[in-house]
Amino acid sequence: MPKVLVTRKIADDALAILRKSCEVTLGPDESGWSRAEILDAIRGCDGLLPVGHAKIDAELMDAAPRLRVIANFGVGVDHIDVPAATARGIWVSNTAGSLTETTAELGWALILSTVRRIAEGDRYVREGRWKGFGPFFFLGTELVGKTLGVVGGGRIGQAVARRAPPFGMRVVYWSRAPRPEFAADAHRTLDALLRESDIVVLTVALSPETHHLIGAPQIALMKRSAFLVNIARGTIVEEAALARALVEGRIAGAGLDVYEKEPEVHPDLLRCPNTVLVPHIGSATIETRTRMGIIAAQNLLAGLEGRVPPLALNAAEVRR
Ligand code: NAP
Repeated sequence: MPKVLVTRKIADDALAILRKSCEVTLGPDESGWSRAEILDAIRGCDGLLPVGHAKIDAELMDAAPRLRVIANFGVGVDHIDVPAATARGIWVSNTAGSLTETTAELGWALILSTVRRIAEGDRYVREGRWKGFGPFFFLGTELVGKTLGVVGGGRIGQAVARRAPPFGMRVVYWSRAPRPEFAADAHRTLDALLRESDIVVLTVALSPETHHLIGAPQIALMKRSAFLVNIARGTIVEEAALARALVEGRIAGAGLDVYEKEPEVHPDLLRCPNTVLVPHIGSATIETRTRMGIIAAQNLLAGLEGRVPPLALNAAEVRR
């Protein structure tokens, strides 16, 4: 029986798929393993199903000479050294598509709660500070007639954009090349998008090219009345520059699911009332996490059986 390592507990339905034909070593439920513990646990394993964002690098792959497939639990693989895996003949797969709609829904939750000051209002009521209605009390910003700027017109970017028309919003987007899924006149350069948008949503994958894509010069292009929402990866934004811009009122607010040094958050962001901060929960719904587990398990099994995992990212390079 092949041995597989699942670094954290995933849905029972997904584990059941694996346990039919594999010997499964399961990591701890919530806290996760230290690197030393993962290094130790992976020895002798044929497959790895990493859950979370711990680095999966060459050293770890070399600790498991029998490793044939890494089936990531999630779509972003910026924590996995895919070229190192390819060089060792290891397939790497993700769960692309399984979390698109759920993550887009969280994007909209952040948009709505940021522009209408929902988290701030909730704190206000709970703290007993609410004294009653006022014509200028707790004013937010309406969405109708505004422009949504989607940075990264991939699956999640498209799903965020699809939800804009019912709110009466116009969509512009930035992708490296125009995409057929968007209106022909909606494509912008990144700078133009930042100047034009009332809400900027980041849905771009993290890579060396997108690291700190949004720093002080880019934030300076945004309208003072604009909001930034990040549901992609924390290091796409220079967090200190964003915190400074929010403190100085350079932009109106931000809704963040992801951070540069998770689970740490820049202290100024914690102090800013015009931010809505949630703890990396983009794909965190019961339905999606179950689906992600099942898809990752199916990818892992395919690789162990010598078949190309359905969502392999290096299928063209790794051939058996
Ligand atoms: P996708 O369909 O592959 O789209 C990726 C997007 O990133 C595309 O728009 C692509 O640009 C862009 N991109 C990739 N490499 C780039 C580069 N070098 N320079 C500029 N743009 C680049 O992926 P997806 O399913 O939409 O997921 C997008 C990202 O969301 C994931 O990588 C992940 O990090 C993040 N995510 C976060 C959560 C969460 O919990 N908050 C949940 C799921 C996913 P083009 O349009 O130019 O091709």
